[in-house]
Amino acid sequence: MTEKKWVYSFNEVKLVEEYVGGNWEGVRGLLGGKGSGLADMTRAEVPVPPGFTVTTEACNAYQAAGKFPAGMWEQELEALKKVEQLTGKKFGEASNPLLVSCRSGAKFSMPGMMDTVLNIGLTDKTAEGMVKLTNNPRFVYDSYRRLVEMFGTVVLEIPDQAFEEPLNEYKQAKGYKLDTEMNAEDWKAITATFKAVIKKVKGFDFPQDPFEQLKLATEAVFKSWNGKRAVDYRRATNIPDDLGTAVNIQTMVFGNMGEDSGTGVAFTRNPSTGDRKMFGEYLLNAQGEDVVAGIRNAEKIETLNSKMPEAYHQFMQITNRLEMHYREMQDVEFTIEHGKLWMLQTRNGKRTANSAVKIALDMANEGLITKDEAVQRITPDQVDILLHPQFVVEDKEVAKKENRFYAKGVNASPGAAVGQIYFDADLAEKQAKQNKQDVIMVRPFTKPDDVHGMIAAKGVLTSEGGATSHAAVVARQFGIPCVVGASHIKIDLENRLMAVDGKVVREGDWISVDGTTGEVFVGKILTFTPKIEEQTDLLTLLKWADEICAKPGTRKFSPGWPTKGLQVWANADYPKDAQRARSYGAVGIGLCRTEHMFFEKDRLPIVQRMILAENLDVRKAALDELLPYQRADFDGLFRAMDGYPVIIRLIDPPLHEFMPNEDELFEEVITMRVKGETTGLAEKEKLLADIRGMHESNPMMGLRGVRLSIYMPQIVEMQVRAIFEAAADCTLSGVVVKPEVMIPLTGTVNELKWIQPRLIKIADDVMKEKKVNFTYKFGTMIEIPRAAVTAAEIAEYAEFFSFGTNDLTQMTFGYSRDDAERNFLVTYVAEGILPKNPFQTIDQGGVGRLMDIAVKDGRTTRPDLEVGICGEHGGDPDSIEFCHLIGNNYVSCSPFRVPIARLAAAHAALKHSGKALAEDK
Ligand code: ADP
Ligand code: MG
Ligand code: MG
Repeated sequence: MTEKKWVYSFNEVKLVEEYVGGNWEGVRGLLGGKGSGLADMTRAEVPVPPGFTVTTEACNAYQAAGKFPAGMWEQELEALKKVEQLTGKKFGEASNPLLVSCRSGAKFSMPGMMDTVLNIGLTDKTAEGMVKLTNNPRFVYDSYRRLVEMFGTVVLEIPDQAFEEPLNEYKQAKGYKLDTEMNAEDWKAITATFKAVIKKVKGFDFPQDPFEQLKLATEAVFKSWNGKRAVDYRRATNIPDDLGTAVNIQTMVFGNMGEDSGTGVAFTRNPSTGDRKMFGEYLLNAQGEDVVAGIRNAEKIETLNSKMPEAYHQFMQITNRLEMHYREMQDVEFTIEHGKLWMLQTRNGKRTANSAVKIALDMANEGLITKDEAVQRITPDQVDILLHPQFVVEDKEVAKKENRFYAKGVNASPGAAVGQIYFDADLAEKQAKQNKQDVIMVRPFTKPDDVHGMIAAKGVLTSEGGATSHAAVVARQFGIPCVVGASHIKIDLENRLMAVDGKVVREGDWISVDGTTGEVFVGKILTFTPKIEEQTDLLTLLKWADEICAKPGTRKFSPGWPTKGLQVWANADYPKDAQRARSYGAVGIGLCRTEHMFFEKDRLPIVQRMILAENLDVRKAALDELLPYQRADFDGLFRAMDGYPVIIRLIDPPLHEFMPNEDELFEEVITMRVKGETTGLAEKEKLLADIRGMHESNPMMGLRGVRLSIYMPQIVEMQVRAIFEAAADCTLSGVVVKPEVMIPLTGTVNELKWIQPRLIKIADDVMKEKKVNFTYKFGTMIEIPRAAVTAAEIAEYAEFFSFGTNDLTQMTFGYSRDDAERNFLVTYVAEGILPKNPFQTIDQGGVGRLMDIAVKDGRTTRPDLEVGICGEHGGDPDSIEFCHLIGNNYVSCSPFRVPIARLAAAHAALKHSGKALAEDK
């Protein structure tokens, strides 16, 4: 039996490919990112210092057994011999010593893994040999002291200070400021001092056997895989523990051999702007880590051209080739030794959202990648970042330096906001509208009657609540930067101030809120707002995403809906939201909430009169007053959505939400009684009694949705009349309307059977009255589990389904969302009882299964059933992918998330192209 191969030389990548079955992911898995890059470059005849990689499998074997697997060390020695042959040097031999670096490298780059040890192989003996060879004792002892220090800190885990302190003392004693002032004798003395540090701390000598150095360094890399920082990082980023890290042993090349040597790092394109121009820095006469550490001011890469034209030219050629090979922007490390260029690392470069879009687009236009790939390369998060106001990075740094950081909460809605704080909605609105101030509304938490203040504000800050609290949901809906649950802040509403550890901010003071990170600062930080109309690159990319989704044929779920991917619609209540939705690329309104219109100041009194009406005539009179308002709302909506479907949901919330707050009213009544005020008291007492009469112990499961329509049909009759009158008027003026009336909270088909024919009759009456004809639909929300499992019956009446996944999640889990998020949900996610917050990402196994049943069963009754989702999940990429898979026709989300959803829909379509069709058969 041949022994397992634990070690591969850089020039053995073919063997690795054979072993893992040919795929590059497998190679990366076995050799790690760094090792596979080095091997790949070696194969492409890029100048790479010879070396070898100890595999991740060896690492895993080491973790299991607590020692090197059998044969591994011997294979390392074998591989080292080959390196000696290639370089003509010998490890540990004084006359011409081979020095190597020991570099960790997992499949994914991971902070917290062991750092690199350079110059392994230097000992007292080989150092002397190197001096003779190079005639450069300063270089040799500089390298040697680096080895002793790195070995001490990295391998032996001695704190940095133990080395830094004696070095600083030495420099002080000599009157030196910079390392460059140190001469050969100085470094030699420091080397001795560092060796003494090791002896003192560890009780043994710095190993003078180079093989011992190599062995310990290899083992230290393995051990660092299970170091605390590395494990924490893996937990946070979902990198599995069993990947292991590889160890790369590589011949040293020296950038610190004089002014004809140097080292640097570079990106093949600009990582912050995306410009197609090499971006990088280098230092002459320096070793690798010096550039990153910023010890000296590095030079711009362009200037290398005049200093070492040949090496520069070769470098440009090689990096260009690497970019073509990986078809991605590369981040490379290089070193020049006596004018000769060596490449030490290549990997896909990290970049800003902005430059990611530009690079993807450019590469597609250059023919390097396809349009589909360009779309795939941008993440939904990157699009999100691009659309929200952002703080100017430098100015935020200044704020931090000036100690203006105030508090941190949950980053509920991204973007940057700067404004004066106000502690209630009315005042916030007034200051914003009348006094034209930039306002941040600050509350312990928010409620539906705070919305007008939130909309008027530039940002929202709360001290309570989580990522799906009312404040968070509304803020996201309207694209308002928002931080919630900043629990260190004590809000004192009475004295109109807030405080963190005694640091007081008063009403009217300026703060800056970063909804992207959850940070709050005192005072102003500069911002800039990217406009989507101006982001031509992003618009092009989104157009490509739409083209992917629009391609017909691959998803056969729904006859008459022949797209490959999902359409993206928007939730919009007002014409201006609809316009915004259009400009963000929505092709329909998936949810217009009519009750928001009832909350407006001039309408609320009429609404209350209507609710409290003692007889039908009074109620009808109030509704007649509301009708023109509603008609005007819908008119604007239809015009904004000319040619596109508009789903309007009939009234949904329990009526008490439109009434004054019971507790506050009670207080007023008591106060009046105590003070003996009589005028108006009787009315107030009557109102209080009425409101108390409406009390429900579980309003969210009480009289609302279709139940309310059946209990009090006059309201929805008015709404349907308003919808169809507006639609008819629009049609007459040449607008193409596609109204879809949505009945909320259906639990049994009999509810639809009762209400829907009455409403259809009104629709037809209006069309007759106005002498126009247009198509319309009636449908329902699926948000009660019973509706989902009886979808086949419900589809006999409903022409479309729209999943209200917020309610569906509440009712499926039996969680009241507000309570759950305030209490146990955080624990549930932390303990892994739930993988994710189901109010943010659809719970596929439960809620999702109900959705799947509803779609399938609904379409057995009505094959052309239109299916969408209008819950908050409609803007969540994972949920969007799920909606694609179960055969939704569209997702509907807040206008601000439409671009994100367009991209996510394209990703889903690409990921599952073909597959969905196969499953459908
Ligand atoms: P990291 O993953 O932290 O970048 P690296 O293993 O890439 O760690 O190495 C740190 C620095 O040392 C880099 O600048 C790298 O180029 C340099 N370096 C690593 N190995 C060698 C070598 N054999 N010769 C010269 N420089 C090296
Ligand atoms: Mg590196
Ligand atoms: Mg609902």
